[in-house]
Amino acid sequence: MAGLVLREVSKSFDGTPVLREVSLELADGELAVVLGPSGCGKTTLLRIIAGLETPDAGEVYIGNRRVDLLRPRERNVALVFQNYSLYPHMTVEQNLAFPLRAARVPRREIRQRVARVAELIGLSERLKSRPGELSGGQRQRVALGRAIIREPALFLLDEPLSNLDADLRVRMRGELVALQRKLGTTLVHVTHDQSEALSMADRIVVLHQGRIEQVGTPQEIYRHPATLFVAGFIGQPRMNLLHGSIERNLLVPFGIPLLNRELPRHLDRVVLGLRPEAIEIRPDGEYVAQVAGVEYRGDSHTVVLRFKDQSLV
Ligand code: ATP
Repeated sequence: MAGLVLREVSKSFDGTPVLREVSLELADGELAVVLGPSGCGKTTLLRIIAGLETPDAGEVYIGNRRVDLLRPRERNVALVFQNYSLYPHMTVEQNLAFPLRAARVPRREIRQRVARVAELIGLSERLKSRPGELSGGQRQRVALGRAIIREPALFLLDEPLSNLDADLRVRMRGELVALQRKLGTTLVHVTHDQSEALSMADRIVVLHQGRIEQVGTPQEIYRHPATLFVAGFIGQPRMNLLHGSIERNLLVPFGIPLLNRELPRHLDRVVLGLRPEAIEIRPDGEYVAQVAGVEYRGDSHTVVLRFKDQSLV
């Protein structure tokens, strides 16, 4: 069964296209991370899946059921935002129980489900606390718990970790993945943070100017970027992009031999992508470059080279 299918979803605001024929298929239980720069349409995509926004064209299926004509609450989707939107005057227990109360679930069942979810999110001891008495990470866990308790068919997370400090953010990534594995529910996580995407995703969906540039595992995205945008966007420091031409199997003006036999012997415009970690600095190396700057990074150094009038990291 498919967890989520999008078919040629498009959306414009005031005549400006924000999503352009976005098609995507996620397996049931998959953890996908939608990654892209600010303004590329990530939030709009989530809002369309949740039913808070209507697409101009296209179809949305959740678990093989077409949902784009259904109202948000008929879609069985849970959406979690970066600002936790907890009720400050309610305890953790009441916050968790809220969606079930609203759905008129019997009291005994509410108690059982709250206890189970509190244990899952590791807050069984804090059921009587109010959000103001919790840390940022704990509050985010309550927000997740409130999404989990409804047992949705799909989780949609919009930058849920961006309000947390760096250390906690890294820990919460692991917790989120572990939780999703336990529940086995399809999850779409939106972020502009590439290390979050690389570390969490089964598959990354790279979105740029409303279009999907590539869908692939973190390894595929990193090792085999499908477009120049993906090549330049993923990796810190970024991939070096050397612009030149091919003449008799040499990249001109750099004089680098191209070993890929499938390349034509002559080509006017080519771009060679070179990851910084693929470049080795040696006193007896094959090419000559000048060191233009060195940046200390704790576990490594970033070296900027001048090479044939281009800067190479
Ligand atoms: P960020 O990472 O900054 O949150 P994003 O990738 O989530 O960005 P969206 O919030 O989806 O991007 O917005 C995409 C574009 O659509 C932006 O240019 C935004 O200004 C525009 N937009 C979003 N919602 C509306 C709206 N309701 N009316 C008009 N324009 C909108």
